[in-house]
Order: sequence, then structure tokens, then C-alpha cells
Amino acid sequence: MFTKKIIIAIDGFSSCGKSTLAKRLATQLSYTFIDTGAMYRAITLYFLRNSVALSNQHAIEAALQNIELHFEINSTTKQSEIFLNGENVAHLIRELLVADKVSEVAAIKEVRHFAVAQQQVMGAKKGIVMDGRDIGTVVFPKAELKIFMTANPETRVLRRFDELYAINPHISIDEVRHNLELRDYIDSNRAESPLRQAEDARVLDNTHLDREQQFALVLEWVNHCLSN
Ligand code: C5P
Repeated sequence: MFTKKIIIAIDGFSSCGKSTLAKRLATQLSYTFIDTGAMYRAITLYFLRNSVALSNQHAIEAALQNIELHFEINSTTKQSEIFLNGENVAHLIRELLVADKVSEVAAIKEVRHFAVAQQQVMGAKKGIVMDGRDIGTVVFPKAELKIFMTANPETRVLRRFDELYAINPHISIDEVRHNLELRDYIDSNRAESPLRQAEDARVLDNTHLDREQQFALVLEWVNHCLSN
């Protein structure tokens, strides 16, 4: 058992399995898992519910002042769930309505500053696995281990379709493909902290790797970091 605690930053495209890997890694290491995508999704839900105009900087700043986000561990499932102003929105934020708007909201400078400041506080004591788009580049540029996950786009579409179809059998594969392509495009091309592979990140292309293979590889990287 290692006493040293590190920050593990996992970035990458949508639907690469970042959260699945991050959760398992956090459990294995007894670290805290933080899904930063859930934070941007919860902010988006608030904006949608309150009809916040994305072109109105004043309205955005005012809205952010009314948002309180935190994570709680569900005592039954042991999963970390996000709360928006005291309401558990873990399921609502997965809906396509939110997914279709989240990248636009996450591209707003004020929104990013709001979320990043909280993420930096959450990770100040280390012992965290945080997944997102800018964790290794902006949130924790000094993270001890940075992983950049990627996979063939069609593989990602099929994986996300399977996940969403289980909750909503009316969803079409074209809707899922369109949403992933749009999010990848906006996330990679926005002016404020775009999705980029950090220079010192280890790349994990999991197109042809199953979950066990990925996990074994990442554990080797973690052990290497912890023993150095
Ligand atoms: O990870 P997830 O797919 O749930 O993230 C939803 C969206 O939140 C992403 O498509 C991206 O627009 C935004 N995001 C971000 N920066 C992060 C995490 C997520 O911009 N660190």
C-alpha cells in the first residue's frame, strides 16, 4: 500500500469510457472520483430550466451566483451523484436535451472559471481521479498522472448508443452520432481551454482494448507514478 497520494487526470473525447475507468480506478485506490462533465451538465440543466440566454454575459454571471453544486455518494449504489441546489440531478443530466446544449454552455468563459475553481478546491488534498476535457491542461497541469483517452469515432457512437438505448429505446443511432460529433467539434475548437492532449499525457486508445486490458495498463502507469 502506498501512502503517497497523487492526482490522476483523465481527459479525452466524448464516450471513450473515461468515467467508467476513472470510477474503477478511484475505488481500487480509495481515491475520490470527480466527474467534471456532470458539473457542466448540471449547470446546463439550470440554464435550460431558467431560460438563461447564452449570449447575455450579465444573465450568465447572475445565474452562476445562484448555482450550488456538490457530489454525494449514494449509500445503495456507492456511486457519486451530483446535486444542483440540493436536488439530485444525476439522471436528469444524462438526457439528450442537456447533452445537446452542454458543449455550448461549457465553452463560456465565466462557466469554465466557475467550474474550474471548484474542481481545484476538490483536488487540493490529492487522492483524486478527475475526468473531463481540460483536467491535465488547465485544472491540474501538474497532475502526477495524465491520461488522454481516445477511440475510433464509430466505436464511441455504438458504445454511447447502447448506454442510452437501455434508458430510452426511442433514441436513434443518428441522434447519438450527431450529438457526439457536435460535442467533439465544439470541445476541440472553443477558445477557452479547448480539449487538447497534454504534452506529458499517456495516450490510451481503447478501440481494441476491453475494460480489463485498459485497467491493467492504467494500473501499471499508476504504480509507476506511486513508486517514483
Ligand atoms: O464528460 P461528459 O461527456 O459528461 O461531458 C459533457 C460535456 O461537458 C462535454 O461534451 C464538454 O462540452 C463539457 N466538459 C468540459 N470540460 C470538462 C468536462 C466536460 O468542457 N472538464
